Amino acid sequence: MPVALVTGSSRGIGAAIAERFAADGYDVAVNYHTSEAAAEETADRVRDHGQAAVVVGADVSDADDASRLVETTVDELGGLDHVVNNAGIDQHVYTEDLSPEDFDRVMDVNVNSAFCVTKAALPHLRESDADPTPSVTNVSSILAYTGAPIEVHYAGSKGALLSLTKSHARDFAPAVRVNAVAPGHVETDMTSDRTEAEKQEELAGIPMDYFGAPADIADAVAYLRDARFVTGETLNVNGGELMR
Ligand code: NAP
Repeated sequence: MPVALVTGSSRGIGAAIAERFAADGYDVAVNYHTSEAAAEETADRVRDHGQAAVVVGADVSDADDASRLVETTVDELGGLDHVVNNAGIDQHVYTEDLSPEDFDRVMDVNVNSAFCVTKAALPHLRESDADPTPSVTNVSSILAYTGAPIEVHYAGSKGALLSLTKSHARDFAPAVRVNAVAPGHVETDMTSDRTEAEKQEELAGIPMDYFGAPADIADAVAYLRDARFVTGETLNVNGGELMR
């Protein structure tokens, strides 16, 4: 059975990706940082599809935790074929009030985690006989392109992920493909603090006239997983908010 590891899959987009992989026949490692009960619920939904699941608590910004996460996945599920670096945090604060510690924390969770998890996973991905090729998908953001004055560290971290994606794609080809998705506004806990007025203003800039659902991002990740001739690419999933 092919195996996927989805970081930050207790809630939101990561949970939808974990469930989509299970629906597509993958055993799944479900990772959380603090939300153990929610992670167990994600794992139950994976099992509802007849697939095996393992739940691993790990702070993916920590290299030792990232390594333990990968090794537990391989030990419990028998290998590793696809990695989704989805875990992320956000914080709304302008530069004048942003501390270096908070800047570093967002970078650590959003970027360093992808480096640490991918580095730990690479030997196992190289051993995988997955067809199509094993892959890594990094979850970036539309803000990588637009910037965001009230979340410069978040936007910067998501831009860095796109460069990391291309560098790793060049480095690991042809054995392992590396791609990214860049979601626009998706309705999850991360975006639940928007006021109604802010939501209406943002909606006016989305030609498809709705906010994304976690399953919309899971569809894009599943496409990249299966797209054997696609590497180093970013798939923008934003309802037309940013046409490039
Ligand atoms: P969310 O609902 O806040 O969920 C975040 C997930 O990341 C949770 O599972 C959380 O685990 C996990 N996480 C946070 N810090 C972690 C750490 N140090 N180690 C391991 N796991 C950690 O967010 P979301 O909206 O689903 O976002 C998922 C990804 O999509 C993020 O990378 C985000 O930047 C990106 N994104 C989201 C949007 C959007 O509009 N929602 C748009 C563009 C990009 P716990 O539950 O244990 O805390």
